[in-house]
Amino acid sequence: MRLIFLGPPGAGKGTQARELAREWRVPQIATGDMLREAVAAGTPLGREAKRIMDTGALVSDDVIVGLIAERLRQPDAAGGFILDGFPRTIGQAEALGRLLKDLAQKLDAVLYFKVGEPELLRRLTGRRICRQCQAAYHMVSAPPKREGVCDNCGGPLYQREDDSEATVRNRLAVYERQTAPLLDYYRERGLLTPIDGEGSIEAIRTAIRRAATEAR
Ligand SMILES: [Zn+2]
Repeated sequence: MRLIFLGPPGAGKGTQARELAREWRVPQIATGDMLREAVAAGTPLGREAKRIMDTGALVSDDVIVGLIAERLRQPDAAGGFILDGFPRTIGQAEALGRLLKDLAQKLDAVLYFKVGEPELLRRLTGRRICRQCQAAYHMVSAPPKREGVCDNCGGPLYQREDDSEATVRNRLAVYERQTAPLLDYYRERGLLTPIDGEGSIEAIRTAIRRAATEAR
């Protein structure tokens, strides 16, 4: 099973990737986690990434692709993988295509998690933090017993600037601008499968299993 999970922040692909990777016994490969691990382990690429991030710049496609290349060559990825959060750009998608060709491997499918903006906003703006003890709540999935009040300490809850509607809307717009060409790229290659990302976690998982089986 060689899959890419694509979708906006809040689409739930990380959760699904983690569970299905366990079920299928393949690694979930998330570039964000890999960057943090490489930096922590002090590998040559990790040191290079840290040097770039310390200047406040974004890590280049070359570094990300280098990390993915190292990861896909490890034995546990020989039988399959779920790429979660990669590729982000056409350049990365093309590099991945070359890499898989070198490894004599082929993508089975690119699953695109479709979630409407109202639902994404509901998920992404629902977080509230306690001013006193920093406990985290979610208005939809983990609300406090009394609105606006921390269960632990009775402190007032607030919304971080990162979780405000304006910031979230902007993040979603950036994602869409960045990813739209990628959707076309994989659609033209007959690999794109949309998944309805608004149902229950179990219903979404069933849809992914079905799409993955059909793609093989
Ligand atoms: Zn508290």
